[in-house]
Amino acid sequence: MSTAIQIAYLIASILFITGIKLLSKTKDARRGNMLSAIGMLIAIIATLLTINVLSLVEIAVCMLIGGAIGLFYATKVAMTKIPEMVALFNGFGGLASFAVALSDYFLKSNTSLESLDAVNLTSIILSVLIGGVTFTGSLIAYLKLDGKVSGQPITFSGQHLLNLVLLIAFVATSVLVFLNPGNLVFIGALIGISLLLGVLTVIPIGGADMPVVISLLNSYSGMAACATGFILNNNVLIVAGSLVGASGIILTQIMCKAMNRSLTNVLLGGFGQTVTAAAGDGPAIVVKEIGVEETAMLFDSASSVLVVPGYGMAVAQAQHVIRELMEQCEKRNIDFRFAIHPVAGRMPGHMNVLLAEANISYDKLIEMESINDDFPNTDLVFVVGANDVVNPAARTNPQSPIYGMPILNADKARTVIVSKRSMGKGYAGIENELFGYPNCLMLFGDAKQTITKVVGEMKEMS
Ligand code: NDP
Repeated sequence: MSTAIQIAYLIASILFITGIKLLSKTKDARRGNMLSAIGMLIAIIATLLTINVLSLVEIAVCMLIGGAIGLFYATKVAMTKIPEMVALFNGFGGLASFAVALSDYFLKSNTSLESLDAVNLTSIILSVLIGGVTFTGSLIAYLKLDGKVSGQPITFSGQHLLNLVLLIAFVATSVLVFLNPGNLVFIGALIGISLLLGVLTVIPIGGADMPVVISLLNSYSGMAACATGFILNNNVLIVAGSLVGASGIILTQIMCKAMNRSLTNVLLGGFGQTVTAAAGDGPAIVVKEIGVEETAMLFDSASSVLVVPGYGMAVAQAQHVIRELMEQCEKRNIDFRFAIHPVAGRMPGHMNVLLAEANISYDKLIEMESINDDFPNTDLVFVVGANDVVNPAARTNPQSPIYGMPILNADKARTVIVSKRSMGKGYAGIENELFGYPNCLMLFGDAKQTITKVVGEMKEMS
């Protein structure tokens, strides 16, 4: 039986790894998800066969309750609220590891103190630390994203020093736990410190940096699960936890690189605040406005169009009307594609998710590295609610806070139309010199409303 269980765990692990590999290509992502889900089913069934604490009926009841709550929220949640949901998922993942570690500790400290050996105690302490930080940190991230707590960085003097003191206190208390494994006061102190550290490390980070934090907390939840795997002696939990931990760290790094910022810079917080103060000193940008009718005419006469979607498209929920625009253009045999920046919007893959929701096929979405050389040969670039990700200052102005951030070379196209409501700045809080370029025209107004009118004009023309 035990060999069969280990083989099942091995198969589940292979399915997880293959699933993650497939997630790297949009067209294979669904299949990847499915394979990983099958892997998880195999792992759950194999684990259930080894359990002798609860009856299968009790487990089934718990699964039904948990599954029903998950299904309810997953079907109810709006696409724009996915970051909040992911934040909560991470938090509960951390809480689960935290709870399992503590239940193991309390069970053994009551019944068999000698079984709390060095390996077991190390795993419990790591689970409590990482699980606790993940839980409260994710709750703060959720509250910030949902607007229930201010998205502004919450800072006070001595904050980083306090975090350092707490971390040192955690290490010192862990030593005391090793020396007195049955002492509940010490384990209680570890619980308190880890929960407090989660809150204190996330509050100084601005709302718009939350996706990076969520990706990092996701990685933490994997590491906590991995530590719990050592407590339970469960190989598949160790493998799955390591996979989540490693992939979360890689994603965090990709996002930081795409913003040309270090993880330390994100974690120390206050990005929007300092940059806004430094911005706005330059000469005012003179822009040329364009109306709905002329915009429709420019689309009508173009032979190639690249749409650059950004955060404003998500705010306006303009993805469906952009699909209609695409249909109008394709009727005219216009080559119509989307240029996707890795951090456009406010979460990784934000644009891909919204455009997929509007039934725009994956092969129309081209990643930055593959599309950047095509801009000079494009007739019309339509920037919809994007700002920082097309700001040429990232290439040209070493004083700019976004200097060095890889951007989409929209400015190199023959004509650029920018759809936004005003001259409002983007997340980085700086002016965008593109808006004053001779080849750039501003289509002011809410993206959904103006594009709806452009589509109306195009329908009338045909
Ligand atoms: P930006 O935040 O730079 O700009 C968005 C623009 O959308 C604004 O200038 C705003 O202008 C416009 N806008 C807002 N509402 C509407 C609306 N209803 N209709 C039309 N336009 C609207 O977005 P980008 O996507 O270009 O850049 C993303 C930024 O977020 C980058 O700086 C990135 O580093 C950062 N970031 C991204 C993360 C991610 O994971 N994707 C994570 C953390 C940060 P106006 O007010 O004039 O309408």
